[in-house]
Amino acid sequence: MHQTYPIFRRIHPHNLNRRLMTEPTLFTKIIQGEIPSSKVAEGDTWYAFLDINPQRPGHTLVVPREQAQRVAELSSKSRRDLMDGVVEVQRRLSIEFETTDFSINVNDGPLAGQEVPHVHFHIIPRTKSGTSRPLWNMSKNSSDPDFEALASLSKKLQSY
Ligand code: AMP
Repeated sequence: MHQTYPIFRRIHPHNLNRRLMTEPTLFTKIIQGEIPSSKVAEGDTWYAFLDINPQRPGHTLVVPREQAQRVAELSSKSRRDLMDGVVEVQRRLSIEFETTDFSINVNDGPLAGQEVPHVHFHIIPRTKSGTSRPLWNMSKNSSDPDFEALASLSKKLQSY
């Protein structure tokens, strides 16, 4: 069993950050239904919805209901459950996009390019029609969201 060093617990900035972060994030507002989203699936401790600016069709975000900025700040339960959420989302996207292959990315903190300070896994289906290059260097998609397309895909994915 992996042990966390006591010094890590005492002074690591992640722990300080956890105490300071009290305002609901954009993703907490989405989870609470205050801001609309194109749901894909949900579990007791996680929620999944389509990215508003998909890098590829089906680009989904899986987020813990527990609000934390970095993976290391989550409770063990949320962290473990989150991977079940990832796999459940993959299962649904596999049916729709007829693929077993995905890019999974986490920008774990602002220095890693994280824009929304709430842990989220990007799940992007990879199909034969695209290249098989890793997506690490891809620039953001800045076009206007296609809300109709997102709503229709959301409906399908929820039915799987
Ligand atoms: P990151 O840069 O890893 O923090 O990714 C944040 C992601 O959240 C980006 O891919 C955005 O397109 C996505 N995003 C921002 N606002 C929304 C929203 N209201 N609904 C769905 N996705 C969003």
